[in-house]
Amino acid sequence: MLIDRDAAVKAIEQYGIVAINDGRKSLDTVDDIVELMRIVRAISAVDAVPVVYGQWISVDGTQECDEWDCSVCARRLTFGEEMNAEDVYDLNPFCSQCGTRMDRGEQDG
Ligand SMILES: [Zn+2]
Repeated sequence: MLIDRDAAVKAIEQYGIVAINDGRKSLDTVDDIVELMRIVRAISAVDAVPVVYGQWISVDGTQECDEWDCSVCARRLTFGEEMNAEDVYDLNPFCSQCGTRMDRGEQDG
């Protein structure tokens, strides 16, 4: 289950503020942890859809190719001339057929 990070941070900050305002003199770390975990668990879960990235796959397996396929739906880009991967991604940040966002990953160049 996922929770909103800001909501968790706010809840923990609020716990600290209340402790200070109440003039708490004792610091029982274990009690604090138990109470903070209860507070975090009580934060309602949020829905989140993981972002799916696709890749342009060169048809001939090289980094210079005139045809590139979407890794998600297999839509083929045909350029009529050899294109390097950088240009393919720059020109086609999304697949026009399935809408997937294209990400080359960590490669450079
Ligand atoms: Zn696609």
